[in-house]
Amino acid sequence: MSFATGLLCRECGATYPSEARYSCDFCFGPLEVDYDLVAARRVVTRESIAGGPNSIWRYGALLPDPGAEPVDLGAGWTPLRRSTRLAEELGVRELWLKDDTRNPTGSFKDRVVSVALSSARRLGFTTAACASTGNLATSVAAHAASIGWPSVTIIPADLEKSKIAMAAIFGGTVLGVQGNYDDVNRLCVELVAEHDDWAFLNVNLRPYYAEGSKTLSFEICEQLGWRTPAQVVVPLASGSQFTKVAKGFKQFVELGLVEGEVPVLFGAQATGCSPIASAFASGADVVTPQRPNTIARSLAIGNPADGPYVLDELRAHGGDCGSVPDSEILECIGLLAETEGIFAETAGGVTVASLRQMINRGTIDRDKSIVAIISGHGLKTLDAIVDTATLSSTITPSLAAAEEALRFHQLVAAS
Ligand SMILES: *Cc1c(COP(=O)(O)O)cnc(C)c1O
Ligand SMILES: [Zn+2]
Repeated sequence: MSFATGLLCRECGATYPSEARYSCDFCFGPLEVDYDLVAARRVVTRESIAGGPNSIWRYGALLPDPGAEPVDLGAGWTPLRRSTRLAEELGVRELWLKDDTRNPTGSFKDRVVSVALSSARRLGFTTAACASTGNLATSVAAHAASIGWPSVTIIPADLEKSKIAMAAIFGGTVLGVQGNYDDVNRLCVELVAEHDDWAFLNVNLRPYYAEGSKTLSFEICEQLGWRTPAQVVVPLASGSQFTKVAKGFKQFVELGLVEGEVPVLFGAQATGCSPIASAFASGADVVTPQRPNTIARSLAIGNPADGPYVLDELRAHGGDCGSVPDSEILECIGLLAETEGIFAETAGGVTVASLRQMINRGTIDRDKSIVAIISGHGLKTLDAIVDTATLSSTITPSLAAAEEALRFHQLVAAS
């Protein structure tokens, strides 16, 4: 059972029932799902959680009501791996990698879609839709296919071919817009007004959608043996994941389920789309939109909806925000693969490169525990690396040619 009580305005505190609504009637502020944590505290225990399914739904008590049953492809409960080789490379004592490449469609978006589509079905919608930089479209199309719903996913037309294919294969309608994500998002806000039985999961279902990201923090705590880490690095697109990861840690601490304090959160952006990092660095209160130009397409949101809330969180707890060039993103995709055997998409490169940057400038403490969220699988952005990750040598099928190549690559001693 869910302890969600309804919706709460993040600006003025007005409350509403758990209905299809995403902005406040009084102040137009964004809404979020609110919970009765006092009641939850009596019922939700480490044991009750650990007895649940190996998916995000083990935390169902702290998620929106999914109705009769959740729409579930098995999102979540991904590995939290202790890093030894990357930790040594970066010179830190305790590094953990939250490997969210291992979700049903290869990105953390499966968490938010499972939650939002369940709410959409409960609220009587009939079509799943979204504005996406790629990964969300894939996840929405897959989850909709699994329950026989039509889907309409809207993405920039010039996305990576591999991402378009992954969205299209599930048989929904995929609209490519001649423009960037911010154009796509604006269009979707207009479409919401025209199609009131369509659930645009990250627009009119956004309060429900966002809650799915809390399961990252819940899992991290449980997998660390019911303690909080000291520092967490989160990639930033709209900033939704970041703000809800913060909310998840706060709820677990408030419920008395974990040892330790709420961690300090750190953001990660590509320099080619770094409106939040820029605002943070310059001390600005408002996020100035930027026209994205980076290989990290999944994070390329130039006008991030949750930007101001990310800034508040960063400033309230002594966080920082990385901003890394495309060259370092590519280099760190390789570094992660070579040191840990994890193949991440460009967003993972942004997270690892930002982690390194903030360690080097001393804002991330080398001696305290760190968790880095690796949010998407490398197969999603093969285009970014296929020209550089190539054959070591091409040889004829002869022993002599093989031995010569092995000598060249210094796998056997030169004679
Ligand atoms: C969507 C996405 C994020 C973060 O998105 P937010 O809009 O900030 O919640 C991070 N990594 C990947 C791979 C994504 O697809
Ligand atoms: Zn309000």
